[in-house]
This record gives sequence, structure tokens and C-alpha cells, in this order.
Amino acid sequence: MNFCSKCSSAQIEKKVPDGDTHERLVCTQCNEIFYSNPNIVTGVLPFNSNNEILLCKRNIEPRSGFWTLPAGFLENGESIEEGAVRETYEEALLKVENVNLFTILSVPHINQIYTFFTGEINGSSFGPTPESSEVKLFKIDEIPWDELAFPTVKRTLQLFLEEDRNNVFNEVLKY
Ligand SMILES: [Zn+2]
Repeated sequence: MNFCSKCSSAQIEKKVPDGDTHERLVCTQCNEIFYSNPNIVTGVLPFNSNNEILLCKRNIEPRSGFWTLPAGFLENGESIEEGAVRETYEEALLKVENVNLFTILSVPHINQIYTFFTGEINGSSFGPTPESSEVKLFKIDEIPWDELAFPTVKRTLQLFLEEDRNNVFNEVLKY
């Protein structure tokens, strides 16, 4: 950041504001503090009654060409569930039902928090989009474990396939 977005001053400094515990970018002209906090990624693990899971082949960087669960950054003004459902439609043209929170994974070294919901497919149609070159149902023994885009996706799939399917909240992933 070179200029203050409030007063346009170039006098931006890194310092710990009074009463704060972390260094922040602060405008020394108007005293505006610019906070930087983790981003939330929200998505769905879509499955059907044939024990198949839907994955998308990424058509965008990062990790273009690798398989992922439909997910993306939460927008202002929406709940994590709304964001997950929206991303699933944007990336896979899929409308899921009975959406339930399944994993919350902290990835502190890249300042991201992932939330994944399970969602039932129930015969809904789906297809490729600008973000996904391929959208496909996988039998459990066909999941391309070595071609998954992100550790959070792999972990969520692993947890889903574990027999007791305990929800996992607050797991910290380090990789
Ligand atoms: Zn300013």
C-alpha cells in the first residue's frame, strides 16, 4: 500500500497502534489503521446416493489442471453457507441440497481459513464452466489423490471417507 485510501497521503507507516498487539499499516496523516486479516475460503463436498463425489478440474491458477472441490473466497455480505452454495454453482453449475457444515481448517501460514459443507446432489445437473475445464463424479476408489489441488481438499475428502464421519472443526493444517 503506497497511499492512504482515506486521505490519499503517502505517509503510511508500519507500527503498533495504541492499545493494539500487532503491527499495522497506519496513515500518519489521518490516523486510519489498515488491518490485514485471514481470508475465508468456503466450498462444498458434493456427493450422491451412489457413493460418488463430484470434483472440478481447475481451469485457473493456482493449481490449474488439478482436481478440487468447488470452493472460493467468501464475499462481503454473505454467510459461509451461501458462499459455498454460490461457488458450487459458479464452478460446477451444480445446485446442492441438505448442505451441512463439515470441516473448518485453519491454514495459518497462508492466512486462510477453509470451511467445507457436505451437499447432496440428488439428480441435479452439472457441467464445465470458465473456472472448471471438467466436472466429474468419482467413485470412492477412483478419487485422483495425487492430482488434488490443495491439502485442505485432500483432508476434507479423507475425513468424509472415514467411517464415523465426525465433523472436524478447528483443525490446523500445516504443510
Ligand atoms: Zn490517511
